[in-house]
Amino acid sequence: SDLSTLILDRIRDVPDYPKPGVLFKDISPLLADHAAFSAVVDALAGTEPVDKIVGIEARGFILAAPVAYRAGAGFVPVRKKGKLPSETFAESYDLEYGSATIEVHRDAFAKGDRVLIVDDVLATGGTAEATVELVRRAGAEVIGLGILMELAFLKGRERLQGVDVRSLVIV
Ligand code: IMP
Repeated sequence: SDLSTLILDRIRDVPDYPKPGVLFKDISPLLADHAAFSAVVDALAGTEPVDKIVGIEARGFILAAPVAYRAGAGFVPVRKKGKLPSETFAESYDLEYGSATIEVHRDAFAKGDRVLIVDDVLATGGTAEATVELVRRAGAEVIGLGILMELAFLKGRERLQGVDVRSLVIV
């Protein structure tokens, strides 16, 4: 479709970043293009009622904040451990080497809030799975996961059973 082309033409493959053997998808050219960025924000925002948009640090913030504005929803940051100032829930997940911990404020949601989680790239799904868990622990309902680009070969979707994964492009 037109949107897929708009996106795919503006995502740059960077070999061996952040380490040898990884082909990194760099969304900077897309963000720098108003037509593409705004079309992506509109598509991620959708049309159904939503109370909060959750953005995952750091590139997720760039997309999720304008999506929240567009959707008429609030914005909630999910951050790496130690960055949020007040009481948090924390979730750890495995990385290829070691593990990572992300957090959300305990009072980020009203009970039963309808939440759309937004991130740039879905890879192994570990980050998204941990974010879904955080939102649920904080008392809200995950209505969907909006993703700019899904890397299908990493099978992240398989870890997200029961979550409505909405990827604008799947490669
Ligand atoms: P996952 O947890 O393996 O699914 O990795 C997804 C997280 O890592 C997301 O927050 C992405 O921002 C980031 N990420 C992984 N691979 C890439 C990539 O190729 N480009 C940009 N971000 C990536």
